[in-house]
Amino acid sequence: MLEDHLGTSGGAVERGTELTDFVDGPDGVSCTLTHAGGGKERVEAAWLIGCDGAHSFVRRRLGQVFAGDTLPMGFVIADAHVAGLPVPPDEPAIFWHPDGAVMFFPISRDHHRIIADLGPVPLHMPDLGEMQRIVDRRGPGGITLSDPAWLSDFGVNERIVRHYRTGHVFLAGDAAHVHSPAGGQGMNTGMQDAFNLAWKLAVVMRGEAAPSLPDSYGIERSGVARRILSDSGHMTRIVLLENHLAQRARNLVVQQGFRIPAIRRAVAGRLSGIRIGYPDSQLNAGSAGGLHGPAPGQRLVLRQGRAAGGPPRLVLAARDSAEARAIIAHHPSLLAATACPPPDENGIWLVRPDGYVAAVARNGNGSVITAALDRMTSQGS
Ligand SMILES: Cc1cc2nc3c(=O)[nH]c(=O)nc-3n(C[C@H](O)[C@H](O)[C@H](O)COP(=O)(O)OP(=O)(O)OC[C@H]3O[C@@H](n4cnc5c(N)ncnc54)[C@H](O)[C@@H]3O)c2cc1C
Repeated sequence: MLEDHLGTSGGAVERGTELTDFVDGPDGVSCTLTHAGGGKERVEAAWLIGCDGAHSFVRRRLGQVFAGDTLPMGFVIADAHVAGLPVPPDEPAIFWHPDGAVMFFPISRDHHRIIADLGPVPLHMPDLGEMQRIVDRRGPGGITLSDPAWLSDFGVNERIVRHYRTGHVFLAGDAAHVHSPAGGQGMNTGMQDAFNLAWKLAVVMRGEAAPSLPDSYGIERSGVARRILSDSGHMTRIVLLENHLAQRARNLVVQQGFRIPAIRRAVAGRLSGIRIGYPDSQLNAGSAGGLHGPAPGQRLVLRQGRAAGGPPRLVLAARDSAEARAIIAHHPSLLAATACPPPDENGIWLVRPDGYVAAVARNGNGSVITAALDRMTSQGS
């Protein structure tokens, strides 16, 4: 899906091509690519985004420390058909046994993801027989695995870089942060990094914002990554508790706690990423006090999204008025030309291309919005 989408904007993935060197200069990054046949190519780029995974070459070349820990234990994972699981097909299930846990997550109509911890043993690739034996021993009995789509082993690292930006070079995704797969948030977190960074680079490259605008990327996204590292680390340690009494207390608390709808909703909101926000962002301005709608730094899902295609622009969510039209006229290229219906008729919301509110003001205080836009266009320049 991503590759198709890239194609619609004229991009293509060059498989078998490796970034083997780069030098960051005053005007951009000089990159050396090595092609599958060994041929070299020089690419002069305005920016380099190192989204090259947990073993990132870009991160190592920058000399950045990937600070954190590696858990001293191995895990096995399988995506397989599961019969006989005594919970509804769309619900996850965890079974705890003195040997360790076995977890089932529904991932499609026919398949569950099954994960088990193995303790401090060397990593090794499991087969379906080993997964079935673990499920028989730790599960409630009567569960049969079949038709495996994928089997693997993995270790858990909890690491994050200190700097998401060095000159014209950025780090995103697993190159910037890795954490336990408990909660299944790694891929979404990386995509949200990209979404946060892309619109900032786009408006800077169009000459509509100051080069310092992308500095907010690392500040906003490293805060999110730290929270996810902490949450998924806690979840992993709770699943892996070894003390028998602590295990019993955990089982009771989790069983009772998850019967409470408010707790289920809170956990779902946190794991899905929907509650992520940037309340302390330097881009935020104004306040939603007294208005029915999100505050600066929170998500706002607009009923009339930005037009498909075209360069990313901020959107004004306000009722049509001379004030709204004046704000748009003040920054015609940075703001979309249309005003979307606001969550509250009495307020004006300035929404970033990544769906987060940058500024909120009551009608009549539109200068708060123009000041926020002015700051974006002139920061540090
Ligand atoms: C067992 C396991 C289960 C997981 N389950 C989930 C889940 O349920 N949900 C979820 O959201 N996440 C999950 N994750 C995490 C998720 O897989 C990662 O967070 C995600 O793939 C990271 O994406 P990325 O693009 O940052 O890095 P990667 O997916 O690692 O991609 C990096 C790419 O860069 C390329 N590359 C590397 N070096 C170079 C170079 N020098 N030049 C050119 N290209 C280069 C690589 O070939 C690769 O294609 C899981 C991870 C594990 C280990």
